[in-house]
Amino acid sequence: MKRAGLTGAEITGAEITAAEYQDLLQRAAFAGVYGVVSTGIVCRAGCPARAPFARNVLVYPTAAAALAEGFRPCKRCGGGVTAASSGNSRSV
Ligand SMILES: [Zn+2]
Repeated sequence: MKRAGLTGAEITGAEITAAEYQDLLQRAAFAGVYGVVSTGIVCRAGCPARAPFARNVLVYPTAAAALAEGFRPCKRCGGGVTAASSGNSRSV
């Protein structure tokens, strides 16, 4: 059984299974991003950083959606955040 969702743009903060996560990592064309709740960072699919546990991963349709949830862009892959959208003022 496979839940639908990873390709849809309507998903926000969806939890995924380990199998779905592996699928996501291998899908360079995946348009969304994933947030790692244990570290508070958001990554693009295919990020070279160490892979987190799938249970710590939430997927978002856009980097902006993840940032709105409090995630920070990954230093390795940029979290899918474009230069144009980075106007955050380190409010930590
Ligand atoms: Zn990353």
